[in-house]
Parts: sequence; structure tokens; C-alpha cells
Amino acid sequence: MSEFETYTCDSCTEEFSAHPSSNAAANTYCSPACETDGKGLR
Ligand SMILES: [Zn+2]
Repeated sequence: MSEFETYTCDSCTEEFSAHPSSNAAANTYCSPACETDGKGLR
């Protein structure tokens, strides 16, 4: 029933669930903090 899929975070390599249409799925980061890290913005 769940439309969520499992992705692996590009930054911390943890698996997380996200809806395929969500920003998290598009960027494959589990959180905004990881997105910042993953893009080398720290
Ligand atoms: Zn992460």
C-alpha cells in the first residue's frame, strides 16, 4: 500500500524512505542538513 521507496542518502549513506515525487527522492538526501553536507556547502 505504501508508495514510499527506500533511498540511500548521498551524504550519510543511511537508508531512508521517501515518496518518489518528493524533493528528498530527487536529491537523495535524508535531510536538509545532509543536503547541505552533500553539496559541500559547509
Ligand atoms: Zn543523510
